[in-house]
Amino acid sequence: MSSNSPVNGGRAGSDTPDLLYLLSGVDEFSRDVFPGNEDLFKSLAHQQHPHTLFITCADSRVSPEMITQTRPGELFVCRNIGNIVPAYGEMLGGVSAVVEYAVLALNVRQVVVCGHTDCGAMKGLAADVSIAEEMPTVHAWLRNAEAARSVVRTRKIEHDHVVEALVEENVRLQLMHLRTHPAVAARLAVGRLAVQGWVYDIGHGKISVFDEQGSQYQTLEEARERLQNPQNKAAP
Ligand SMILES: [Zn+2]
Repeated sequence: MSSNSPVNGGRAGSDTPDLLYLLSGVDEFSRDVFPGNEDLFKSLAHQQHPHTLFITCADSRVSPEMITQTRPGELFVCRNIGNIVPAYGEMLGGVSAVVEYAVLALNVRQVVVCGHTDCGAMKGLAADVSIAEEMPTVHAWLRNAEAARSVVRTRKIEHDHVVEALVEENVRLQLMHLRTHPAVAARLAVGRLAVQGWVYDIGHGKISVFDEQGSQYQTLEEARERLQNPQNKAAP
């Protein structure tokens, strides 16, 4: 972070952000942002009806609400290293509970799994260097992305594009894992849930969307066209 950051450039302490810096941010929120959105926050004080479960990486550069231009109350967000959704039964824990709660209790209508460019987790997987000793927990967690690495390895991909390929393949894998969760499978079966995979390009401010039928990533415009005119897709 630097003092010329477009987000916080004017805020005191932004050169060396510390706890006081965070508190001054909250102060600014309470003073300048909350009053203008008071009705929204009051309406959310005792209830939430998010429409989307948004699963993404913990990376500090990925801001779900900013990317999707959504407001508080719209996204139920689950973040972890590598935007991973362990297959059901593999690792019953935080992510499985979030998925179950979002689908069954909050009745979200869609789940987005969003990876991103320059993902440290995918770079770690691509590097082929074992981090088992230094970071055993991260190492164990990334086993949930191992199949993505296997798939990418079987392709002859130029070194410079391996991370990019892993990011894409990992989103695809985590979508498959997501479908193994009983709550998701049940809602998908009756058409009450949609799932989608995205890759967010940090440097360009764009997303690409995975088209499961076509088994490829599409631009936002192509994905929008596909969703708006699903009958076109049925053509041979
Ligand atoms: Zn990441």
